[in-house]
Amino acid sequence: MEVINPEEKVEGKALYHQVFEQQKAYQYELGNRSAKERIAVLKKLLKAVMAYRPQFKEAMWQDFRKPAVEVDISEVFVVTSEIKHAIRNLKYWMKPKGVQTPTALIGSSSFIHYEPKGVCLIISPWNFPINLTLGPLVSAIAAGNAVMIKPSEYTPHSSAVMKSLIEEVFNPEEVAIFEGDQQVSQELLELPFNHIFFTGSPQVGKIIMSAAAKNLSSVTLELGGKSPTIVDRTANLDEAAAKIMWGKFFNAGQICVSPDYLFVHESVKDGLLNKFVQKLKAFYQDSMASDDYPRIVNQKHFKRLMSIIDDAREKGANLITGGEGEGSQRFISPTIISDVRDDMRLMEEEIFGPVLPVKTFNKLEEVVKYIRKGEKPLALYMYSRSKKNQKYILQNTRAGGTCFNDNVVHFNQNNLPFGGSNNSGIGKSHGFYGFEAFSNPRAVLRQPTRFSMMKFLFPPYNAVKEKLVDITIKYM
Ligand code: NAD
Repeated sequence: MEVINPEEKVEGKALYHQVFEQQKAYQYELGNRSAKERIAVLKKLLKAVMAYRPQFKEAMWQDFRKPAVEVDISEVFVVTSEIKHAIRNLKYWMKPKGVQTPTALIGSSSFIHYEPKGVCLIISPWNFPINLTLGPLVSAIAAGNAVMIKPSEYTPHSSAVMKSLIEEVFNPEEVAIFEGDQQVSQELLELPFNHIFFTGSPQVGKIIMSAAAKNLSSVTLELGGKSPTIVDRTANLDEAAAKIMWGKFFNAGQICVSPDYLFVHESVKDGLLNKFVQKLKAFYQDSMASDDYPRIVNQKHFKRLMSIIDDAREKGANLITGGEGEGSQRFISPTIISDVRDDMRLMEEEIFGPVLPVKTFNKLEEVVKYIRKGEKPLALYMYSRSKKNQKYILQNTRAGGTCFNDNVVHFNQNNLPFGGSNNSGIGKSHGFYGFEAFSNPRAVLRQPTRFSMMKFLFPPYNAVKEKLVDITIKYM
């Protein structure tokens, strides 16, 4: 195996090409590792993630003042639980899965053999820098792949810590990481990867998919969009208020599965909005002074969010709470806005920040009609005690995932597929679904060598064979 010589000073495209070729050459050795060997690698990664915990906290505080407890909940725990889940289940996932034999193929036996896709690229966003980089990596390793990673340039401290971790745990022919911006992404995307796992915006998702098309690389696209929350008049308002405030303002709303906007039944609107304000007070007291409330990731996003709030105010929306911004700190207070109209920017684009627009409804049909007009959301949440209403929403809307009487936490249910649908994503991740995304389910059919029914179909054809074909078509 040719090893990169650090003296040689290969950089940029040439380096990506060199690492890609190394990984391509090494992929069979890697792919042929047993479940036990892959588990040993996952254990090594788990140990490193635990050892780097303090550094993750320090880096994310520097990147956007992410509270240490939120780093533990939404970064470290998500990755460690994904690793432990894979360790517990990998032997079973890798086992060939036998399938039934149709009568027409009697005598043969068939099974699915999960083989690694080969050399994969992971491009990740900034909002959960560790979770959304190492999470997919766990699935890629479990499935036996070599991986090249491009983390986000918006959270440089977190990316630098991940680089140290990756370089400590892996050789570059197994896993390599390249920091940098979209230019690095685009140069990497020129390589003929066997699979590309991208997490980010729908706009960039389209760029990734067209780059992948040039090499016919398969893709998993974990995207975003506007995820609605519905509160009907049967809901437990106190519980709904607490959960929505937590789901909306965790990570300062910079979450792909954050409730983007709210639909509340007219009759419970005032009660719910009052409870929102009470819960926010209980959570953060003074959000500016609170160490439990993060900052917006950069000035670009700070300005974007403030202009979304200004646009709503100018167009006559009602500010229930918040709306304050402090540019030097990239701070925006938890903001709730009611009386919103569809021509306001906060109802047109994904908010991805601490702003919750509130709409009202009288009949659930109005909500369904509104949601159907937009793109399929990544998540759809409903607070309701009515099973009938829950069923109605499930049957009459489409979404990547749904929680009833909760939000966001389905991300942590590793037995469920996580991902969107069309504009909110293509393909699924987490647990077995992540393993599957990085695998090719190879179809294997085995015939006995001494006798095979196939000989009845070989030429020369005659009346008996024609009859056999006729019976097959009619009765099998
Ligand atoms: P983004 O799409 O701007 O960037 C994501 C990654 O793509 C970064 O590494 C970036 O460097 C790279 N990139 C940006 N422009 C590129 C280009 N033109 N060509 C190639 N690569 C490019 O997303 P973001 O701002 O980092 O994250 C926010 C978005 O991600 C939101 O839409 C959010 O909903 C979505 N998201 C989805 C999930 C999910 O699991 N479905 C999770 C988190 C975030």
